[in-house]
Amino acid sequence: MDAAKYIWMNGKFVAWDDAKVHVLTHTIHYGNGVIEGTKAYKTEKGYAIFRLNDHTKRLKESAKMTLIDIPYSVAELNLAQIELVRKNEFTGDNVYLRPFSFLGYGVMGLYHKDAPVETAVAAWEWGAYLGEEGMRKGIRLKIVSMTRPANTSNMGKAKATANYLNSQMAKYEAIDCGYDEALLLDDQGYVAEASGASFFMIKDGEIITPPNDNALASITQKTVIEMAEDMGYTVTRRRITREEVYVADEAFLTGTAAEITPIALVDAREIGCGSRGAITAIIQSAYFDIVFGRNKKYEHYLTYVDNVDRN
Ligand code: PMP
Repeated sequence: MDAAKYIWMNGKFVAWDDAKVHVLTHTIHYGNGVIEGTKAYKTEKGYAIFRLNDHTKRLKESAKMTLIDIPYSVAELNLAQIELVRKNEFTGDNVYLRPFSFLGYGVMGLYHKDAPVETAVAAWEWGAYLGEEGMRKGIRLKIVSMTRPANTSNMGKAKATANYLNSQMAKYEAIDCGYDEALLLDDQGYVAEASGASFFMIKDGEIITPPNDNALASITQKTVIEMAEDMGYTVTRRRITREEVYVADEAFLTGTAAEITPIALVDAREIGCGSRGAITAIIQSAYFDIVFGRNKKYEHYLTYVDNVDRN
């Protein structure tokens, strides 16, 4: 990864190499932590963080779900992220922000009430998560043997560190089998989401994406629905079966890191033309216009880091 200069840790900016923890950090052992993934893009008016407040709110809500009491407000965490992007003096088009909170050193055993809460934000330059070629030609998905954990035994709505064991196993299986990314079904057999992104398919001009019953409440998915409806497309949220995926005209993944990644193939079946579909290309280009500040209508989703008052 590309290291940056500073990491914000518990209220202070520390040098990248000094942002360290003890090996007996509670979260390393028991997995209760929460993360966000937020992106800043280099626009004509400097760096702009996309939907900053929504991401920070989700971090706080994930923490509430998993009983981690983050001692900072949404406003304080927003400012930390803005200041971090400024202080690191990035130069590239794409900066990824990772705000997170975890349980620190000093308490062992599962009962975590007295474990200290640590909060940090890191930011670094990070290009296309699923590769530049994937963005143009589409990626290959495998419906993997892991399913998303049922709501009776996990909290998929929390962007919780613990949920990423499921994602990691799924992703590893997909790549080990020669694919690029995993698609996970829910415990009922309906499409849930990819290992770190949401799923969309297009059939006869209709854009279809599953509800978040068994998936993260994705911010990019919400943006794409709003944007596509604005552009006149019909967007339906309903359950999707495996067979429907195989015969879709087009399909794509969405996510903060995945952005809009076309899907070329699922389980040895080419999707549509076997490359980026026509509507997918339109959605992809419209999304980049929004995040790079080229669409005035969506400017309220952008926080320009150089415009925010430091006081
Ligand atoms: N699902 C999972 C499991 C994810 O990790 C992500 C990435 N945060 C998404 C969906 C997409 O969410 P968002 O659009 O809010 O980044």
